[in-house]
Amino acid sequence: MPHASPLLILLVAGLGLAFVLGTVANRLRISPIVGYLLAGVAVGPFTPGYVADQHLTLELADIGVILLMFGVGLHFSLGDLLAVRRIVLPGAILQVIVSTALGALVASLFGWPLPSATVFGAALSIASTVVVTRALQERRLVDSERGRVAVGWLVVQDLVTVIVLVLLPTLAPELRSGGPALDPAALAGTLALTLAKLAAFFLVMWLVGRRVIPWILHYVAHTGSRELFRLAVLSVALGVAYAAAALFGVSIALGAFFAGMILSESPLSRRAAEESLPLRDAFAVLFFVSVGMLFNPHVILSAPLRLLGTAMVVVVGTGITAFAILRILRVRTETAASVAAGLTQIGEFSFVLVNLEIGLALLPVQARDLILGASILSILINPIVIASVQRVVRRREEPERAATPPPEILRAVTLTGHAVVVGYGRVGRLVVDGLKRAGVPLLVIDESAESLEQLQAQAIETLAGNAAGEDLLRTANLAAARVLFVAIPEAFEAGQIVQQGRQANPALDIVARAHFDAEVEHLTKMGASTVIMGEREIAQAMLAHALRAQQG
Ligand code: AMP
Repeated sequence: MPHASPLLILLVAGLGLAFVLGTVANRLRISPIVGYLLAGVAVGPFTPGYVADQHLTLELADIGVILLMFGVGLHFSLGDLLAVRRIVLPGAILQVIVSTALGALVASLFGWPLPSATVFGAALSIASTVVVTRALQERRLVDSERGRVAVGWLVVQDLVTVIVLVLLPTLAPELRSGGPALDPAALAGTLALTLAKLAAFFLVMWLVGRRVIPWILHYVAHTGSRELFRLAVLSVALGVAYAAAALFGVSIALGAFFAGMILSESPLSRRAAEESLPLRDAFAVLFFVSVGMLFNPHVILSAPLRLLGTAMVVVVGTGITAFAILRILRVRTETAASVAAGLTQIGEFSFVLVNLEIGLALLPVQARDLILGASILSILINPIVIASVQRVVRRREEPERAATPPPEILRAVTLTGHAVVVGYGRVGRLVVDGLKRAGVPLLVIDESAESLEQLQAQAIETLAGNAAGEDLLRTANLAAARVLFVAIPEAFEAGQIVQQGRQANPALDIVARAHFDAEVEHLTKMGASTVIMGEREIAQAMLAHALRAQQG
């Protein structure tokens, strides 16, 4: 029998185990990331049994990083990025400096010389993009204020990392020996070259990419082949990321982010996001498996205090620093707390930095285990930090709300006998038009604030956000509503909305949208009064047209 390839075994073992342990974690109501990391430890070289190929895993994880950042870019325009520049540019740079100093302080307690302690600190100052973007996408916060600040912050951190990565080899001899005076001209030259390459990348993307990439996708979309469209999306995301790294020395993550951002202006961006979704999720899981694999659990026993100190810098140090900086920059307390909570972990950039630093003999090998250990601990603690911060924020907001209710809640509550329309897209728009003509009082909910703008201009009540989330529907005064239209295409979320609607008002007329028979069944079970199956209605209209034509 021919041997299965290492890649195939890795996919089977890595993804399979991640699936099993992720499900167990889900069952225990903890983040599935815990399961993915443990799956990595299990197939890693430091535990008995099957050992997966580390290089392969890391390479596959890169694809996850690319697709995640591409997806974030698709929700982000250059305008969004520029809108937060006054916060993220000074904020992220200052946070990196303070976190580096804190890390250096802790490392000097290990007895490491100052230069080593400083480069160790630098590796602790950069958060993992994967962890933040996953958390944002899970909660659909990329489009929110905190989402924009967080992503802007990551982009600046990413740029700082690129510069540090390029400068370190030039600085290394000086840092190692403290000896021969550094050649400032050489350093300035390297810095100038790096900045010039970054500028060249942005310029090429802006001048060429912004025209060529949407053109390619439009062309392919018109061929009508879904397969070709998917291929085009993947080729663009992977191709730009690779070119950014290979030609311009930009990180693959940043390259992919820009590829997505360029497409975000195109009407095809939503389809592009949908088509890359399943692959993105699978490869993002491999990212966590690869982190788990690199970890040597032995460090927990051999250097527990060092590990704890390192993790404290990341979780407590960076968290408080980022929060304080955001507050100084006059960001709202709630936004500042959420963004800071998201940043209290480290990941891929730290591994790249620490590997380079060990390679340049700037750090002892133990530093890698400490960084990996701190990364795993901080990624494990991260969801708990985010959840607790959210709880505190909500508690703070509640008394405030009682005192001065935000306008949308007041508006929603004053409506009675109204119709609530969830989803203002192809279906929702038509429903809203009809209700408007009939003079029915209306509340429209959509997660994209932009699509609601035109309604606000017509003085129609709106709520922006994910209606399947916990809080939004509660403010829609469903108890006094007459009918709820759930006009979104995704049946799983529609089911959650229907269920909440039914709980809020047992007598409510709930009309939902479906595309498959199984969805009709699911939505009915969740409590919908009527489920309209799009495909069936289309078929009936087609048939009626044909029969009419025949008679005529
Ligand atoms: P369409 O498929 O063209 O009818 O568009 C669906 C609309 O529903 C889009 O405008 C989405 O932004 C919106 N939408 C989808 N899911 C949700 C959700 N869970 N909560 C609120 N709006 C949603």
